[in-house]
Amino acid sequence: MLSHRVDHFVESVIRDMTRLSLKHGAINLAQGFPDFPAPLELKRAAASAIMEDYNQYSITWGAKDLREEISRKAREYNHIEADPENEITVTCGSTEAMMASMLALINEGDEVVIFEPFYENYGPDSAVSGAVPRFVPLGEDNRIDEDALTCAFNKKTRVLILNTPNNPSGKVFTKDELKLIADLCAYHDVIAVTDEIYEYILYDDKKHISIGSLDEMKDRTITISGFSKTYSVTGWRIGYALAEKTLTSAIRKVHDFLTVGAPAPLQHACVTALRFPDSYYEELVRMYDGKRKLLYGALINAGFKCCMPEGAYYILADIPESAGMDDMAFAKYMVSEVGVAAVPGSSFYKSEAGKHKLRFTFSKRDETLMEAARRLEGLNI
Ligand code: GLN
Repeated sequence: MLSHRVDHFVESVIRDMTRLSLKHGAINLAQGFPDFPAPLELKRAAASAIMEDYNQYSITWGAKDLREEISRKAREYNHIEADPENEITVTCGSTEAMMASMLALINEGDEVVIFEPFYENYGPDSAVSGAVPRFVPLGEDNRIDEDALTCAFNKKTRVLILNTPNNPSGKVFTKDELKLIADLCAYHDVIAVTDEIYEYILYDDKKHISIGSLDEMKDRTITISGFSKTYSVTGWRIGYALAEKTLTSAIRKVHDFLTVGAPAPLQHACVTALRFPDSYYEELVRMYDGKRKLLYGALINAGFKCCMPEGAYYILADIPESAGMDDMAFAKYMVSEVGVAAVPGSSFYKSEAGKHKLRFTFSKRDETLMEAARRLEGLNI
């Protein structure tokens, strides 16, 4: 009765944990969204846009003023030239941009290279588009294993998904790593589809590099980002894809019939977001750096082993063996008995490695994180 496409994945475990968290009155360190207010200026811009009657469909592929502003931002921040008329598509979050890109590129049986650990969505993105995922585990210290990556490419490889800064590992891919990926993509005629939603959230002076800015990747990259994380508006669902003209026209076709367009008044407000001064981004990093250290300290104190992330707002922690439970059982125990929700590691791994991990987000108010720290102290592991 049902399509075989939906047999291959389950509903989001991240959002399932949010529901469980609500049920148990736990602190939700599972789903990555802020529990603090969005910037006032942005909320005002959205309210004015509605009052000024930006309430009907915008152009399917995005309001012109927003595409122009995204083009400027892409040039200045990502070092990517994207013509607003032909190379930018505004979507319902980067989630839609990713799915629309996959549907636009993949034929049944094409292969997609995905680094492990990976963001939960890429499995379903592959299943729905008919792609066969090839997972490449990152080695020790989150480094690329060059041999494993090289072996993952073959005649059927069509796409490589790259998420930097990475959710859940916090890895920020280096220039050398991007160069290696670029060489393989160029050699095998593969398109890189990137998820750069955390592009402004980097610590310890790490720099974000978009693979689409490398010469050889100019016409073979779909660069995806959005407003959710940088401007703390995850519920607005505004994202975008940058890609050369032919790729963009395929993405636009899918996008048009999937969603018609992203919310018009919120697109208008996002123009204001892109005009925020540099100090906004500096403050964002300063804020998340403090939260990163707070959660890291709390997890270490509670007996977890984990690394400081280089970017994004998650910490992937090892469940101590003494806990005697796998990730699912331990996540359920944590939410019901300790009052802290996290995501079971297996959501981010194809291999067994995820069974020994939990992912925590620190995109929460300091008070929330401190209360979580207090509860974690009671954890008996
Ligand atoms: N990106 C966020 C996370 O990883 C939110 C996921 C979602 O629910 N779309 O937690």
